[in-house]
Amino acid sequence: MGQLIKGKAVADAITAEVKNHAEELRQKGTSPKLKIVRVGQREDDLAYERAAIKRMASCSIDCEVLSLSLDISQEDFIKELKKVDQDETVHGVLIFRPLPRQIDENAVKYIIRPEKDVDCFNPINVAKVMEGDETGFPPCTPEAAIEMLKFYNIEMKGKNAVVAGRSMVVGKPAAILLLKENATVTICHSKTDNLKGVAGKADILIAAIGKSKMITGDFIKEGAAVIDVGINVDSQGNITGDVDTEDCIGKVSVITPVPAGVGSVTTAVLAKHVLKAFNQLTGK
Ligand code: NDP
Repeated sequence: MGQLIKGKAVADAITAEVKNHAEELRQKGTSPKLKIVRVGQREDDLAYERAAIKRMASCSIDCEVLSLSLDISQEDFIKELKKVDQDETVHGVLIFRPLPRQIDENAVKYIIRPEKDVDCFNPINVAKVMEGDETGFPPCTPEAAIEMLKFYNIEMKGKNAVVAGRSMVVGKPAAILLLKENATVTICHSKTDNLKGVAGKADILIAAIGKSKMITGDFIKEGAAVIDVGINVDSQGNITGDVDTEDCIGKVSVITPVPAGVGSVTTAVLAKHVLKAFNQLTGK
């Protein structure tokens, strides 16, 4: 029987470390600040926003939300982003995506300077992550997946790691981060022939597909570590992962639950990034 590894202990450890540093800064009369930029009122954005506000408070990091109307023009959105970028009291910026249709991501993704771009929207950060440049910011979710593996002492070096999903937000950066840890990495996607066969060779499987419980026990190698990044809502309205945990638990060594798995670590990584952005911007 495999072990269910939860995110809370990982998030608590990261939170304690960030809080420690942020409080030292506060005693010196300064503090890191996150600005969240939200367009419209999507329920999943609002849920993440609430979690991020709570996490920043427990890390002693300031947090403000810029809530913009869903029908904002691209021109006005650019003006707002420029103001946020130039605001010297703001050290980290998180922009919820996808943006509404009238805003072309390509026209806005360079506006927030890479030093403040704490969730890897700016392509300069993407390049830094590819290069292994430590001043860059990987997206928080794949970094949270790696934090889970590290915290629970899952060896990545030399292991066969399979990432199911190739988005810029999760799949591709997860693969790059695994490579940095010296895993041998395979990326799968919707056109992959025989996903079951490929996933079945993985010592480490990261599922980031967006299909409720698609990964069943017959995709899993005996003793694999399985990290489920998926957040889906099933037909009964329940939050589910991409992995059928009950079906897999007998085969895995460790597996993350959904909810209470990777998702809970993501905001802690975000707080860590805001502190790092503050340090890099101010030299403190
Ligand atoms: P996307 O929809 O952008 O990407 C999904 C990826 O899965 C694509 O690369 C797609 O392939 C691939 N895929 C789809 N169907 C299959 C299939 N049948 N077999 C193999 N691959 C398939 O999703 P995201 O990357 O944004 O998110 C993935 C999941 O992670 C979602 O459930 C999302 O809610 C969750 N998520 C969780 C977060 C957290 O904090 N825990 C944060 C962000 C996302 P192709 O490229 O060929 O289309």
